[in-house]
Amino acid sequence: MRLRHIQGAEEKIASSPYVVQDPEGERGHWNQRFNNPHPIEIEVGMGKGRFIMELANRYPERNFIGIERYSSVLLRGLEKREQLDLKNIWFLCVDAKDLSGIFESGEVSKIYLNFSDPWPKDRHAKRRLTSPEFMEVYRQILKEGGMVEFKTDNKELFQYSLESIPASGWEIASYTFDLHHSPWSVDNVMTEYEAKFASEGKPICKLAALRPKEI
Ligand code: SAM
Repeated sequence: MRLRHIQGAEEKIASSPYVVQDPEGERGHWNQRFNNPHPIEIEVGMGKGRFIMELANRYPERNFIGIERYSSVLLRGLEKREQLDLKNIWFLCVDAKDLSGIFESGEVSKIYLNFSDPWPKDRHAKRRLTSPEFMEVYRQILKEGGMVEFKTDNKELFQYSLESIPASGWEIASYTFDLHHSPWSVDNVMTEYEAKFASEGKPICKLAALRPKEI
């Protein structure tokens, strides 16, 4: 994603009523923050947030948290958020590597990774959001039976993930190289990137991976 520094973005995020300012302080108490016992689902790298806000709108009986590390990107999402009447969504401006300090073990039901940065060079492989390092972070916060769902247009990153995820002990429950012509298309919610790639006729890959059981 091309990043443009937006002046005052950090200050706006710091005073936004839609952003949790001390997420570590909520660890183990996220359901209290939502004021209900509903399951919590997070999107890591939400960008401008079209996907997670549409999910929150569609599924009021589920709770959502959008995570984005860059304030200038999150700010775009907040502008959209202001126009919506949603009670089941919060945003965090944090890096995904810190998630186990923010969520207690088993606090999250599902994790969405959408069009994550591919980091094509081998020496950057650890930065890929489906690397063993990140899968371990997700294992720590997901409940037993929890899933990671991952969508991308990038065949190399997808192929890498089809190998790296099982190598981390996860089971690939299902996958497709053409999401929009698969059974998943029925209730698919598009992200910003997905809408752009789909309009160019690019096929989208998707996989769902099941968290390893505790031994
Ligand atoms: N998910 C959106 C979509 O599909 O339209 C945005 C995709 S964009 C290519 C990837 C986003 O992930 C960027 O906004 C980037 O800042 C964010 N991101 C990448 N690595 C991250 C990390 N470690 N923690 C949090 N956000 C991250």
